[in-house]
Amino acid sequence: MAKVAFIGLGNMGGPMATNLVQAGHDVTVFDLVEAALEQLRNAGASSAASAAQAAAGADYVISMLPAGRHVAGTYLGDDGLLATLDGSTTVLDCSTIDAATAREVGEAAANMGIGFMDAPVSGGVAAAAAGTLAFMCGGDAATFEKAKLILADMGKNIFHAGPAGSGQVAKACNNMLLAIHMIGTGEALEMGARNGLDPGVLSEIMLASSGRNWSLEVYNPYPGVMENAPASNDYKPGFMVDLMVKDLGLAMEIAEQSGVDNAMGQLARELYTAHQQAGNGQLDFSGILMRIQK
Ligand code: NAD
Repeated sequence: MAKVAFIGLGNMGGPMATNLVQAGHDVTVFDLVEAALEQLRNAGASSAASAAQAAAGADYVISMLPAGRHVAGTYLGDDGLLATLDGSTTVLDCSTIDAATAREVGEAAANMGIGFMDAPVSGGVAAAAAGTLAFMCGGDAATFEKAKLILADMGKNIFHAGPAGSGQVAKACNNMLLAIHMIGTGEALEMGARNGLDPGVLSEIMLASSGRNWSLEVYNPYPGVMENAPASNDYKPGFMVDLMVKDLGLAMEIAEQSGVDNAMGQLARELYTAHQQAGNGQLDFSGILMRIQK
């Protein structure tokens, strides 16, 4: 059993913290929203009046916050969390944020002798609740060994991607590719359908051929082909377009900073942004098919 401070109890952090309580850890939580704290108290956690109070004496500090500015604000500066911790605490930031901020926080922690990893997740709210998230970690090997012990109670695949910031880079690479193959899958299915093919039959053909990919295999964007996919449930998320646009923005920053010509990624971002601006931000990202069909 470990003493864990968990900061940020939203759609993802709430169920992740609950899983740590259920695994028998001594969990103290902090969020800006009282209702979120109450929910975790009901699940068996203690709550604190500040992040620093939650983190006092913790073996692990875990955060699940919206964006880089929240993570920098929580950890950096004279009144940031890092200034209150020492080498006995391992810090894991599971938020999806820009790689530059993740590296900055990771380096600040290293300079203070504190083990820190960026550990963004793949898998949405359902995977957070089921404890089946994938974690992509950036930081040193010794911290990764400690991180695995606690992340295993919230997920099933835990990868060491490389040094500080690498978890965020891995996540951005994956989601950029996901956006590209979802759009390509939608275009292929629509082209087949307009030429008289049954999208289900075409899906079977492509699944047995070289067009096979994850969107086709487990998340078919064409309504009615896959009973449990968001496409067959009015594109209820799932993984929201708003979050895909956020992740594509982070991917564009990394591509620009590293001089990568990611023409397909840029186009995917443009298409998803237009789809979002058309009022579909809260729908599942596989609903990009609706744009293709127009
Ligand atoms: P959310 O908006 O539901 O939750 C964020 C929580 O952080 C809120 O409860 C908010 O009150 C709290 N918060 C904000 N600033 C704070 C601060 N300074 N101190 C303490 N608490 C603070 O967001 P979410 O859906 O849980 O996502 C969290 C992160 O996980 C994001 O980076 C997101 O991109 C990533 N993510 C989300 C999903 C998903 O499907 N929702 C999937 C993968 C990754």
